[in-house]
Amino acid sequence: MALLAATAGSAASASKSVAIVGGGWAGLACALKLAQAGYQPIVFESASEPGGRARRAHVEGKHRDNGQHLMLAGGDSLNTLFASAGITLPTTAFSFQSDARQLCVPPNAGSLGLAFALLRAQGFNWQERYRLIVTLLRLKANGWTVPKDQTVAHWLQQTKQPTSLIDTFWAPLTLAILNTPLAEAAMHRLAPTLRDTLGKDGRALGILQPPGNLTECIVSPLVKAIEDAGGTVRCGARVAAINQAGVGYALLVGNETDTLQFDQVVLALPPWSLSKMALPDSLPTAALAQSFGDQPIATVYLGFATDFHLPAPLLQIPGPTPGDARVWAIDRAHCGEPGVIAVSLSAQGPWCELSGDDLAQACLLALQNAVDGVPACLWKKAVIVQRATYASTPEAFIPHQDLEPLPHLHLAGDWTHPEYPATLEAAVYSGFSTAHHIMQQQT
Ligand SMILES: Cc1cc2nc3c(=O)[nH]c(=O)nc-3n(C[C@H](O)[C@H](O)[C@H](O)COP(=O)(O)OP(=O)(O)OC[C@H]3O[C@@H](n4cnc5c(N)ncnc54)[C@H](O)[C@@H]3O)c2cc1C
Repeated sequence: MALLAATAGSAASASKSVAIVGGGWAGLACALKLAQAGYQPIVFESASEPGGRARRAHVEGKHRDNGQHLMLAGGDSLNTLFASAGITLPTTAFSFQSDARQLCVPPNAGSLGLAFALLRAQGFNWQERYRLIVTLLRLKANGWTVPKDQTVAHWLQQTKQPTSLIDTFWAPLTLAILNTPLAEAAMHRLAPTLRDTLGKDGRALGILQPPGNLTECIVSPLVKAIEDAGGTVRCGARVAAINQAGVGYALLVGNETDTLQFDQVVLALPPWSLSKMALPDSLPTAALAQSFGDQPIATVYLGFATDFHLPAPLLQIPGPTPGDARVWAIDRAHCGEPGVIAVSLSAQGPWCELSGDDLAQACLLALQNAVDGVPACLWKKAVIVQRATYASTPEAFIPHQDLEPLPHLHLAGDWTHPEYPATLEAAVYSGFSTAHHIMQQQT
């Protein structure tokens, strides 16, 4: 097969040729950083649109998000990404309601803002408040570190959390953050997120609220910023194989017969996609896919008259089937979808046994049981992503030194973050950190 030069630029730019496989937020963040530093990265994305797991989907005749993506205002990498691409998003205070419980952390709450908000919160008894505050203070005193093999279920037991608090606070919070059942979830992935949210001030707990869908508000402006800086994003371009070729790599893209030659390759892919590509034999792709596993997320969209609102923008309600943990209902009015409620269900649970239609009906009933005065439902649709995230178990971890398994071949994506679970913050951090590593190698 002929080896084609991927970039037709000067000798300097050709020596900096970088292919990024995967146009999710990790790949796009990497491309933006490199392009703004004078490289000409090319992103190859197999889907017809960029954005990966965080982009729009066509649901009931409209573009809506393919899942509810809560972004906290304290995310350093996300903030840097948005600033670099000229994206500004409104922020609202963290506030949730669950039966009689109501918790709001105002932006001006100081350090350990949540602890102080808890003192004022409604619906928590004094034992629950005491346990929560003491536990958070102890975790902080220990530098937010826990044993690497400890599960969240074990930690909750060890710190003597009351069952009522586990059911209505820790379980829904952990499932939303780690997307992994508590008995399997790694406490060492939850602790850093507590440090960077509950352990910081009220501003860190603010929620970034795109006024429309993720593609229109974030992904498209990001792609424009990459292209303005000299990078390229090619959609509908699935990379089928990568082979070592001299000091670089040859990529086989789509049904093309010729390969493209690059000095550096970034695989910004989840572990399950790595194992589907033809890669150099020394890459342990099957083992990675196995140790990271995967977990589903379902979003049930319910359409009502446009003047219907939830009593709080983020409402916790009982799960749709017996045995399910409590789930989150999100009022989409702030995203330009008045009257639309999204019910988000995380991780394996009894709900996985239901068909999409039955799940949508069960979520409607759960909402009607939890909220007074729900009007007639005009339409409902379940969007189920089977491989929504990797499973944040204690085994799911890749050491930093393994992120460049062959010279100039880099692994990126949310799963490569040293501390965080599968989140947008983790994906963007990994893209930046890979770009930084490539730039360092070439100075
Ligand atoms: C329903 C749902 C809800 C979520 N909720 C939240 C949330 O509230 N907050 C939060 O922070 N995170 C949330 N997440 C997680 C978040 O979406 C991910 O952590 C993040 O999008 C991962 O980005 P990534 O770039 O690492 O991977 P991906 O987004 O998976 O990007 C990889 C890309 O590679 C492409 N690709 C695969 N194979 C090839 C190939 N051979 N050639 C070319 N391209 C290829 C894929 O099409 C994909 O676009 C949620 C995820 C889902 C699915």
